[in-house]
Amino acid sequence: MAVKRLIYYPEDEALLRRKSAPVANFRNKRLKRLIQDLKDTLDSQRGAAIAAPQIGVYKRVAIAKFGQNDDAEEEPMVTLINPEIIEAGEPETGFDGCLSIPDIYTWDTPRPSWIRFRATGEDGNDIVRRVEGMDARVLHHEIDHLDGILFLDRLQDPNELYTPVEGADGKTKMVRLVDLGR
Ligand SMILES: [Zn+2]
Repeated sequence: MAVKRLIYYPEDEALLRRKSAPVANFRNKRLKRLIQDLKDTLDSQRGAAIAAPQIGVYKRVAIAKFGQNDDAEEEPMVTLINPEIIEAGEPETGFDGCLSIPDIYTWDTPRPSWIRFRATGEDGNDIVRRVEGMDARVLHHEIDHLDGILFLDRLQDPNELYTPVEGADGKTKMVRLVDLGR
């Protein structure tokens, strides 16, 4: 239906910090519209997932494209309503980036190595699935959004933030923000 304006850190941090409420009514037009808006907005971006608070709606809904591990093929978008972790593996430190925090990346956030989760799909049916590696990181990152948590909160070392910078040779490399005085 519409590509929505993303909510960005730091200018709208307070909005990203709000907690989202569970969806109670699965058969209403507003939910349908929200799901379509999230899909359209994710489609307009380079990203693996998006959560409702990133477009200013405080409902527990996220859209994800699993299949983000190196050996996998990206899957079509899946709608996750009221996603919940059933069981999770030991944390692993790894990559994070966020549509709401453009051009800033890290390889320093611990997230579960695998997650067994439950959610309601857009057809109202239960989804129970196990995801691992990057897919588990993506899911965990989105559930964090529903709780007002950003990847910046999970850094082990606050200096481990990188941004792409084009060098004199025209090649882009990742440079630490602290080394740029930011
Ligand atoms: Zn994010």
